[in-house]
Amino acid sequence: MIVAINKNIPKNELKKLIDHFSEEKIYTNFSYGENYDLIVLLGDLSLIDEKVILANPWVENVQRVGEPYKLASRIYHPEDTTVSVKHIKIGKNAPLQMIAGPCSVEDENVMNEIALRLKNSSTKILRGGAFKPRTSPYSFQGLKEEGVKRLQSVATRNDLISVSEVVDTSILPLFIDSVDILQIGARNMQNFELLKAVGKTNKPVILKRGMSSTIEEWLMSAEYILSSGNPNVILCERGIRTFENSTRSTLDLSAVAVLREKTHLPIIVDPSHATGNWKYVSAMALAAVAAGADGIMLEIHPNPEKAWSDGQQSLRIDRYEDLVKQCKAVASALGRITYED
Ligand code: PEP
Ligand code: MN
Repeated sequence: MIVAINKNIPKNELKKLIDHFSEEKIYTNFSYGENYDLIVLLGDLSLIDEKVILANPWVENVQRVGEPYKLASRIYHPEDTTVSVKHIKIGKNAPLQMIAGPCSVEDENVMNEIALRLKNSSTKILRGGAFKPRTSPYSFQGLKEEGVKRLQSVATRNDLISVSEVVDTSILPLFIDSVDILQIGARNMQNFELLKAVGKTNKPVILKRGMSSTIEEWLMSAEYILSSGNPNVILCERGIRTFENSTRSTLDLSAVAVLREKTHLPIIVDPSHATGNWKYVSAMALAAVAAGADGIMLEIHPNPEKAWSDGQQSLRIDRYEDLVKQCKAVASALGRITYED
């Protein structure tokens, strides 16, 4: 970090500033400049807030050179993290994982049909929302507790891993007991109390990208979970809001490449919420595998016209089965381990 200091700073004020950094175990390197003098700060700067330094009236500017997150950073943790959930692994050095299911947990028959078809298409993880964060209060809000329990019983019966979105700290105990992977949705990416609460559990967490969040903000949210003690974070790119309106969001596939450089955490992509249209889902899923995603999460349904939510972006199961084969082929072509049949 580089701190530009007003050249008229009195000696005692400069000493106070440098002493303050030393107390924080930060090394300082002072140099005289033409317009400003400079203090270069070296050491672990993850706990240093540039805005606090900027509050000093003698400080003209503060420039951070490195990233503000530490535990999520590849610099401090060069090896790729693999997240384990029961017998399943997710990460760069694990098989490509497909995660599929309806947008919302639905009735028993639909859930059973989906689960059976997943098992036949080497998919190990079943998704389904029980508490739905809907834009309209009049839209279906999810089966709530009953939905969480149904998802888990269908998953367990079919030897699948379950994933469902936890929308609030008050329902976290229910999820801890009943769900294998917690999902933090796009709308909650910066719900810091929720992030800290899931960080105090040891459940794997899929952290979706906020629809208007930068990659740095997203990694800072991951840092909340990691710094609360939970190392099992999986990042999920699900599209961001741009001026383009022919798709529901704009899938930012470059995020996969950027994240791969900046973080050791597993990366998955959700082409369903990104495109909002089943016709575009397969192409984007394949592109995500080609970009290096460790997993693909998507919405599927035996009868999308009858889906309780997001039918327009849900792939029919036969189309999903074809897509799984294609994803596997792309992954193998890239030398990635694919999931076993
Ligand atoms: C979901 O996956 O069910 C969901 C609501 O997605 P997002 O949070 O990405 O909108
Ligand atoms: Mn949905």
